[in-house]
Amino acid sequence: MVTKYIKITPPVFTGLDEAADALKNGRLVAFPTETVYGLGANALDENAVREIFTAKGRPSDNPLIVHIADISTLKLLVMKIKPEAEKLMHAFWPGPLTLVFEKSPNVPKVTTGGLDTVAVRMPDHPVALELIKKAGVPVAAPSANRSGKPSPTLAEHVLEDMDGRIPYIIDAGPCRVGVESTVLDLTEDTPVILRPGGVTIDMIEDVIGRVKQYKTEANIEMIKSPKSPGMKYVHYAPKGEVIVVSGKNKVSEWINEKLSEDEKNSIKAVVVAADENIENYSAGIKMSYGSIKSPQEAAASIFRIFRDCDRLGAEKIYIEAIPEYGIGYAVMNRIKKAAGGKVVNLE
Ligand code: AMP
Ligand code: MG
Repeated sequence: MVTKYIKITPPVFTGLDEAADALKNGRLVAFPTETVYGLGANALDENAVREIFTAKGRPSDNPLIVHIADISTLKLLVMKIKPEAEKLMHAFWPGPLTLVFEKSPNVPKVTTGGLDTVAVRMPDHPVALELIKKAGVPVAAPSANRSGKPSPTLAEHVLEDMDGRIPYIIDAGPCRVGVESTVLDLTEDTPVILRPGGVTIDMIEDVIGRVKQYKTEANIEMIKSPKSPGMKYVHYAPKGEVIVVSGKNKVSEWINEKLSEDEKNSIKAVVVAADENIENYSAGIKMSYGSIKSPQEAAASIFRIFRDCDRLGAEKIYIEAIPEYGIGYAVMNRIKKAAGGKVVNLE
């Protein structure tokens, strides 16, 4: 299959009509959202959705998020909309918050990985919204990576994983947020954050009061007996060993001591650290995730950094922990998962 690559620069959407028609007619289209690139199919078309699982190599019990461009479409997808859901949609849509509802019979079970619930969100990206509107259907879209690879934050990442496997890739440049959406399950009495993301627990609690959020460590344990089927598959790690180090002052000293002479002078070890500290490290390759003062910069760069480490063939990846406030919590969740839950704490 030849993959057609379409570059779009909003507010001009030339070229989007063809992709929207294809989507409506059961074909796959990779498209940008504010979080990461998604691999979209008509969420109500079983055969189209099956092709997502084939193209990604994704296990069939890992449910997809359905993307919509207007709230009226939600009624088609879910049994009922609770007052908390109304408040959250009002506060955060369009945006990086996915809500889990009881599904309506209109949604095929392939889309929900066999579950009776459906995850829905409205993305905050002009190209995503325009594409969904033009297609006129709700769009099931997981991240557009091959299963087991980091989520794509550039169209080039999608091409790397999906060239020849899907008919369309839409390129609108880098994703603004850079980590996947927060997933909040509203089907229980107390809502539960199943995956941390761009919308933080504080932001959610300001709107609907107390919610539950498992610690990332507990979350990694739960991978063995998952609450959300997707959880057991979120074990992406770069090919090299990931070592996360946290502490106030001694992080660079500790890492420099661990680095062998060979690692200091080769591409075998990579150090990933904040702009402000990167000078302190003596590794052969150093990559910055942005300023220590801006966890958003780390969010926007972390998946690209993972891919760059793999491309270099790095054997060890030392990562300076980032402060866990705001979106920093979601970034550390992805980093800890890449490290298999192990964090060296020097405090
Ligand atoms: P991805 O789009 O690749 O980030 O994957 C979507 C994630 O959303 C999955 O890994 C699931 O954990 C979660 N998800 C989707 N649908 C549901 C659902 N019905 N119930 C719980 N979690 C869900
Ligand atoms: Mg994914």
